[in-house]
Amino acid sequence: MAKFNLNDYDYLGFDLDNTVLRYNVRNVVRMEYQVMAKYLVEEKGYSAKLLEPLEADEDFLQKGLILDCENGNILRISRSGVVLRAAHGRRFLTDDEIASYYGPERRWELGRKFSEDILKVWNGPVSLKLRNLLDYFDMPVSLLYSRIVDAIDAERGGVQASYNVWPDILSGLVQIYTREHFQSGVSEYFNLLREHPDEYLHKTSPSVITWLKELKRTKATFLLTGSNIDFADFTASYALGNNWRDLFDSVICFARKPAFFFDHQRPFLDVSGYEECGPAKSLQINKVYSQGNAKDLMEILKQKKPMDNPNILYIGDNLIQDVFTPSTTCGWDTVAVIEELNIRQDDEKLLKSTCWDSYFSCSGQKSFWSEIIEKHSRICVPSLDVLAQKPIDYSYPAFGDDSEINGYHNHYVSIPSILEAQFLGSAANRRNPRDTKKSFKQLRSYRYQQEILREHRSNEAAAAAASVASTEDSLNKGH
Ligand SMILES: [Mg+2]
Repeated sequence: MAKFNLNDYDYLGFDLDNTVLRYNVRNVVRMEYQVMAKYLVEEKGYSAKLLEPLEADEDFLQKGLILDCENGNILRISRSGVVLRAAHGRRFLTDDEIASYYGPERRWELGRKFSEDILKVWNGPVSLKLRNLLDYFDMPVSLLYSRIVDAIDAERGGVQASYNVWPDILSGLVQIYTREHFQSGVSEYFNLLREHPDEYLHKTSPSVITWLKELKRTKATFLLTGSNIDFADFTASYALGNNWRDLFDSVICFARKPAFFFDHQRPFLDVSGYEECGPAKSLQINKVYSQGNAKDLMEILKQKKPMDNPNILYIGDNLIQDVFTPSTTCGWDTVAVIEELNIRQDDEKLLKSTCWDSYFSCSGQKSFWSEIIEKHSRICVPSLDVLAQKPIDYSYPAFGDDSEINGYHNHYVSIPSILEAQFLGSAANRRNPRDTKKSFKQLRSYRYQQEILREHRSNEAAAAAASVASTEDSLNKGH
């Protein structure tokens, strides 16, 4: 059986957002939706219906949905590009309707292209026609998009031959997320985060902070984030304490993933305060840089741990930027952090959509994203807390040729089979009476486990609140 052990790695990297730093998904997604809706109504003249609260259609949201921008459709596809489920606006399409759009085999040509060359489609011209909503920053777009398509159809008397909504949504995303807008104050998204961080960000648990320090003792560690230095400093200071930089041997901000991993021409830039100030003249450990590339990063990490052929692990939540790309272009191992694996009560509706089926499967077939996880990561966890609970030298069952589901780890290392069915998809299994009968006890056991989990989380939250002050003290001492 394939095994994963942190002690097998020399260099260990972390993404920041939704990995080391977790967001309150419910609050941040609702806020992003409202900010984007306001922009589209006020600046782009879309229907005021967009401003209706997200809650009524919350079940329509799911991470990983794909937009077919020309047809006004929202899709789930398989790894080979077959359309598994589709909606036009908010209305789900019948099998016949799906066939009328994508042919009897339900193969969407752009989906096939995306499957065959993920990185080419990610940023190329096709990305204007096929759009992935891959993380919690763009998850609200599926509902915005579908409400806009519904409004257009209602105004114009039916389904249109083509739609041109995406450029407006893109300009909204640029408006709220452009890095300069954090300091300039023109993004309501950044302004709200800055004013109410406790509503949108979680404090990283003390056990994860202790674990990061322990890893740094024997490995060269790095934080590699797409966030600009000012925003990263704001969020990481909130979650990890003011001396968050000391938790890593190297910090790289505005890394421009996924190109960071394969475009070796992009230089590391020196940072002074929150400003980039030109290509770095020398690369040093224990410094913060902006941009850069994976090849030059090795020169930095070697200063802590000289190695000719280091084993490198990267841990992140974005399945293209953090998992697929480092795995395929650099040969690094990865850990996928997927919150959907462990549904917390608070965010359950947002993390588990009934109308789109499980994140990991759809109508009994594996989803595009679970195939990426199983092929390109060693293990998948819902949060770093799961890893921090175990000793550094713990051996986890991992994804490998011999067993495809052994790499999923929630708080309970062995996922009961009812959960496997739930995570990996088997509506068919659940309909089988024998399985249903067998599953009842397991379901009861799952509920019992969930209760234990809730209790554990509430104890953990209380412990986290009590120890934030002492954690920051100890970080300050280390500085
Ligand atoms: Mg992230």
